[in-house]
Amino acid sequence: MGIFIKGTYLVHSSGKLEKKDVYLKEGKIESIANTLYAYENDRVIDGNNKLLVSGLANCHTHLSMTLLRGIADDIPLKQWLENEIWPVEEKLKPEDVYWGAMLGIAEMIKGGTTVFADMYFPEDEVARAVAETGIRACLAPGLIYQNAENGEKKLKENVNFIKKWEGWGNLITTAFGPHALYTCPPEYIREIVKEATKLDVLVHFHFLEALWERDYCLKNYGLNPLDFLKQAHLLDAHTLIAHGVHLTPEESRNLSPYKIYLAHNPTSNLKLSSGIAPIAGFLKNGLKVVLGTDGTASNNDLDMWEEGRLMSFIQKGISGDPTVLNAEESFKIMTNNGYNALKMKGGVVEEGYLADLILIDLNTPHLTPIYNGFSHLVYVVHPEDVTTTIVGGKILMHNRELLTIDEEKVLGKVRDIARRLKQ
Ligand SMILES: [Zn+2]
Repeated sequence: MGIFIKGTYLVHSSGKLEKKDVYLKEGKIESIANTLYAYENDRVIDGNNKLLVSGLANCHTHLSMTLLRGIADDIPLKQWLENEIWPVEEKLKPEDVYWGAMLGIAEMIKGGTTVFADMYFPEDEVARAVAETGIRACLAPGLIYQNAENGEKKLKENVNFIKKWEGWGNLITTAFGPHALYTCPPEYIREIVKEATKLDVLVHFHFLEALWERDYCLKNYGLNPLDFLKQAHLLDAHTLIAHGVHLTPEESRNLSPYKIYLAHNPTSNLKLSSGIAPIAGFLKNGLKVVLGTDGTASNNDLDMWEEGRLMSFIQKGISGDPTVLNAEESFKIMTNNGYNALKMKGGVVEEGYLADLILIDLNTPHLTPIYNGFSHLVYVVHPEDVTTTIVGGKILMHNRELLTIDEEKVLGKVRDIARRLKQ
């Protein structure tokens, strides 16, 4: 049985809309044509007045932090982590992490995000939520180095996690998640990279989110940040670096030949006053840039539409050049670039690609008229405009109704957890 999406609009590379029939089978986009015919057992979706595009790729988040949304705002990063976030996280039970992930997944599916890259602990609970809901994810248990013995133990746990979940249901991929340069020394990361290379998985790492990381690196390791990456062998790995706010233009150029993907998180960086990553310049220097929301304690939502719009507007504003981060390029960063960074063949509506797709209702005042699809996708669309979300050829939301999540139950559980956390 396949999914037949009848008479839906696609965005042509020119930005113009074109009406097509689209057929999904075995998790992939099988065919796109002016007219197709459904088989008897196919699920038929009416695409009339709808726009079919790739789902969005949220390439950096800590999903279960939905539980901490709004618990502490308006504080600098270090103080925020050490005094507000980490003490509450200590109260989290594994099952809480599961419910936090369920809540985050519900929000993402409702907003048209079809894949996310996560770093948290215990990541098994996030994996369980992904497996139950059918969203796609690249999951990394967060690693913080305390001492040699504990470091070894955590690394082993991470390897076990990867062996358990890598490739699960064709939905889950895994990664190592050394937290940051101020929580993991380069020798430790070197060991991690060795395992990551052996297992052929990504390394997901926070890097230069705050300016003081540069001083910390020099004082504690006698290295500048780029030499830290080299010493840690991160340039030899497939590495997703979150933030990179304080990379210099020269550093961004030096990183561009490597399999380094910078996950840009504009909202979180603004809210924590971490700064503004000048990604228009990074892109010009050849650095590969993708987009994420970061956790909801520092965003405070998982809205990738807002993230894409903000990314584009900020770069136009700080560069004084309205031509940078145009709508088409921005949408590619929100979708295809993200999938590429996670080593997945998705992010575009083309035959042979993953059937990770969303339908957007065009019959609304704010999306009428429509001259250029990319323009509306980046500058106008909101999460509520997404009517249907499909991941791997499975419908996870239709007509705004979640089909794999009991939304009321999740909300109730999370309210109970929040009451306990506040005590
Ligand atoms: Zn983060």
